[in-house]
Amino acid sequence: MTDGKQIGFRKLAAAGTLKRLLAEHFYELDRAAKAGAPKVAWCTSVGPAELLRALGFLVYFPENHGAMLGASRVATETIPAANAIGYSPEVCSYMTSDIGAFLQKRTPLSDAYKGIEGIPRPDVLVYNTNQCREVQDWLAWYGRHWDRPVLGIECYRGVGNVTDVHVAGIAGQLRALVPPLEKIAGRKLDPAQLREAVRLSRECSDLWKEVLETAAARPSPLTFFDSTVHMAPAVVMRGTQAAVDYYRELLPELKQRISDGVAAVEGERFRLYWEGMPIWGRLRDLATMLLELRTCVVASTYANSWIFTALDPDDPFDSMARAYTELFIVRSDPYKEEYLAEMIDRFAVDGIVFHDSKTCPNNTNCRHGMPQRIFERLSVPSITVAGDLNDLRCYSDEQARTQIEAFVEQLGEATLPRQP
Ligand code: SF4
Repeated sequence: MTDGKQIGFRKLAAAGTLKRLLAEHFYELDRAAKAGAPKVAWCTSVGPAELLRALGFLVYFPENHGAMLGASRVATETIPAANAIGYSPEVCSYMTSDIGAFLQKRTPLSDAYKGIEGIPRPDVLVYNTNQCREVQDWLAWYGRHWDRPVLGIECYRGVGNVTDVHVAGIAGQLRALVPPLEKIAGRKLDPAQLREAVRLSRECSDLWKEVLETAAARPSPLTFFDSTVHMAPAVVMRGTQAAVDYYRELLPELKQRISDGVAAVEGERFRLYWEGMPIWGRLRDLATMLLELRTCVVASTYANSWIFTALDPDDPFDSMARAYTELFIVRSDPYKEEYLAEMIDRFAVDGIVFHDSKTCPNNTNCRHGMPQRIFERLSVPSITVAGDLNDLRCYSDEQARTQIEAFVEQLGEATLPRQP
């Protein structure tokens, strides 16, 4: 199915800045954890990072560490250690690989950053169950281990329209976090600092959205695989000036690619949407395979999950509540299908890859008939690839290759590429 011509990855120049930024981020956390100041808060990926920053905490995201364990393929070796203490192989492999790595005294941070010996010990751990209950269990394990307070927000799930009732419920929980967090931080919340953190988060989100939307161009200057790398500041640094500055650097580079007609996938023939979690340990393989097939994954639910257009510095609590409840993963299937229809149209998508992620039912959307409903409604074909975000024992290279190659071949036979 490949045309035999060797083509390579086009690395974005901003990657150099990204590398430096991430090093600064992890060294800063490491120094703080060792010195005991500034205080360190662990936060789930869509937890109240803005509130924590406004209170002066440095913020560490364990899911990001989980993704590093997956991408470095260490996860498969560390998961059994968590299984051995009662965490099932069926539950979130971010959580099991992370707890297992801790038990084995391993972290990819030590390999990447000389002098860092472990993950930063928290002063407080803060979750939001908007993604899943697993994050609460995950932080609770570390809270017990280090005898540190675990605070959080219990979110609504399966939400259709986000109403004022939802917003009031979550905003109330956010406000209730302030007194205990102030006590741990040893300072009062300054409303101006909260507004500033929300402002920076919103700016980061808007720029990240613009970055992702460059992929609507044909050919696309960006692939899903690029976005799994370049999303890092939006994930771990939102609410900081550094994240904003990074996307101000990346965005013009992508716009220049569009002006120059530079494709992320040379000779782009087909455009796919990736639905579900990345398969972190196989990103490179999948990117290479699709490059050879001249097929670009132009959009994904995953990378879009760090777009928070509801954030409003003039109304921090209610807007954080709304932004974190409008999240795709929190929503009902009818909402998700509307969203996918819009994405398919905006990005001129020819087909969808649904990732059926074994240990993350929360971010797997192919198990209740959605691919079939999308096809009936839009005639957009899809495949479902069985795998996992981190546990490569749930993924077959052979099977995935055969499926994806056959799917792209079928796109070539059955359809003409859609024009934007
Ligand atoms: S959403 Fe999925 S991958 Fe993320 S923490 Fe929850 S179970 Fe794990």
